Amino acid sequence: MHKNFIDGEWLAGGDATVNVNPSNLDDVIGHYAVADATQVEHAVASARRAFKSWSVVGVQERSDILDRVGTEILARREELGRLLSREEGKTLPEGIGEATRAGQIFRFFAAEVLRGRGELLDSVRPGIGVEITREPVGVVGLITPWNFPLAIPAWKIAPALAYGNCVVFKPAELVPGCAWALSDILSRAGLPDGVFNLVMGPGAVVGDAIARLAGVDAISFTGSVSTGKRVAAVAAERLAKVQLEMGGKNPLVILDDADLDVAVRCAVQGSYYSTGQRCTASSRLIVASGIHDRFVKSLGEALRRLTVDDALAPGTDIGPVVDERQLARDLGYIECGTGEGAKLAFGGNLLTRAKRGHYLSPALFTETTPEMRINREEIFGPVATVLRADGYEHALAIANDTPFGLCAGIVTGSLKHAAHFKRNADVGMVMVNLPTAGVDYHTPFGGRKASSHGPREQGAYAREFFTTVKTSYVQA
Ligand code: ADP
Repeated sequence: MHKNFIDGEWLAGGDATVNVNPSNLDDVIGHYAVADATQVEHAVASARRAFKSWSVVGVQERSDILDRVGTEILARREELGRLLSREEGKTLPEGIGEATRAGQIFRFFAAEVLRGRGELLDSVRPGIGVEITREPVGVVGLITPWNFPLAIPAWKIAPALAYGNCVVFKPAELVPGCAWALSDILSRAGLPDGVFNLVMGPGAVVGDAIARLAGVDAISFTGSVSTGKRVAAVAAERLAKVQLEMGGKNPLVILDDADLDVAVRCAVQGSYYSTGQRCTASSRLIVASGIHDRFVKSLGEALRRLTVDDALAPGTDIGPVVDERQLARDLGYIECGTGEGAKLAFGGNLLTRAKRGHYLSPALFTETTPEMRINREEIFGPVATVLRADGYEHALAIANDTPFGLCAGIVTGSLKHAAHFKRNADVGMVMVNLPTAGVDYHTPFGGRKASSHGPREQGAYAREFFTTVKTSYVQA
């Protein structure tokens, strides 16, 4: 049984969950402890105790610890990537890529912590200096989803520790294996007891306790809009700081002057890789009428060539859907799209493979309209729609016609349209002739509207959330 890590000790819970491989339902990855509310209180109390001394530990020591974590992750990237693919279902190259990114994130913050800087200003009153410095926020609760089980925890845990905070980490129920492996590495990196705590268990118990407990100063959450709103409402009751990363309904605009191969590549990768289970997935392909028919035909041919199979098998392009619940959701939306009058041009079928798993062929809807539910609600599966647009202005209007605002892409040879799109897409991230994603670990990640709330994550921008500003006035 894999235990929770609280106050420097590995502790069992009352229950255990069984972690199953979505590519092979007969493959049990392991048993993982389930924390209860008392254990969350214990973790928060230990983090509070540890904060006093951890918050003033020198930057060299913090840098060395983060570097050790990043170095071990990178040295074990193949093994960790394999565990990730086995547990979550993205393909092995994607799993190894994500493990690599997690290691790089820790290494980035090992250096970034040395760049801690403030500002000096002259006061409006002569002879007085003003210093602006940054201090850690305190104890931070980190609540993460299942779709990036190493990278998202890494991009929250690394800056939290770098800037001198203590951590209570609650991973998603479906991916305790990656969370445990990452916590194991952290537990051996030289952190004082209580600085980092792992509490696995259900959101309604463990996540809710983190949001409620007065000892948690700030909560960084990634997940669905409905849970994010609930966490924010609970945290607002006690005025805790909150950062939310939620869903997307990301558009990929394809103009008449697009390079067709680039457009198809962006759509295949953006919409279907990682089984479409990414908040940055391009779920709406907005295609100008002049290229529409050629694009749909080429995309259909490209989808036919994709191999959907065991995430760990060589040659697999798309792994399984993560679990039964998500599969039912995907199938529900496929039925809904057909019911709304969209044409299911490709896929959307359950597939039988050598091993028992949640295999779904990539689904493409054409002849869709912006008000259809399949164009308004996040599906989070290998399902994309095509919307026909009469030129650039119309495509931009459709692109922005969504409650979400995470990422938007455009495929075009026109600098004029690309420049206009960069400025006018109502999102946090824009891709020109590239698939929608948030790949680079050193750049800010996040969006607008219902996609995000609070400061950006990742890169140097992470300090906005994980530090608090102090202004000191000094008369010599
Ligand atoms: P999904 O539907 O993809 O599982 P969620 O938003 O429900 O997305 O889950 C994201 C994270 O939030 C998970 O770690 C989950 O356990 C946690 N969570 C779920 N419900 C709550 C809650 N009421 N309070 C705090 N965290 C929660």
